[in-house]
Amino acid sequence: MYRHSIPYKHKGLYILITLPMIFMYILIAYYLYTVNILNLIIYCVFFILTIILQSYNCIYWECPHVGTLCPGAGGFCVLSSPIGKLLIKLKIRRSAKIYKFVCNIAFLGFLGIIFYPVYYIHKISVFHLALYFFIILFYFAAMMMFICPACGAKTACPGGQLSSKIKKKR
Ligand code: SF4
Repeated sequence: MYRHSIPYKHKGLYILITLPMIFMYILIAYYLYTVNILNLIIYCVFFILTIILQSYNCIYWECPHVGTLCPGAGGFCVLSSPIGKLLIKLKIRRSAKIYKFVCNIAFLGFLGIIFYPVYYIHKISVFHLALYFFIILFYFAAMMMFICPACGAKTACPGGQLSSKIKKKR
């Protein structure tokens, strides 16, 4: 039987690495709102779409951390965990076809979160844009080194595969 709600061991470290990202999303959201409320709505839609669709991936891969504070990518995927628990309760069918479709759209949502604000940040200054990508790359490197592979989707996720390779070589 699928066991879930197993707490992730290194929550403190995950929160420490992820908090700057969450702070950055909030700043970007506020800035997009000051430019035009429609920009904020589009930005939020990318998050909502990715979070909801990722929850299907969570249950498809039978992630043990569904229903707990999980080490979800980007920080926002943490919210996929309780939704995943709801999907389990609703006995949502796991299917490879649905998974592939959901995974592709979730990935587009993920790209939207990263790249949608680029144009607007660039309008502030090139320095702000460089800082934005620096924070993302720093977060990615920290996740690879200290957190991944911890997610249920580690065998399918390119990040999970990469971190597994890095850790094997050590
Ligand atoms: S660690 Fe990943 S797969 Fe597991 S519940 Fe969190 S977002 Fe879902």
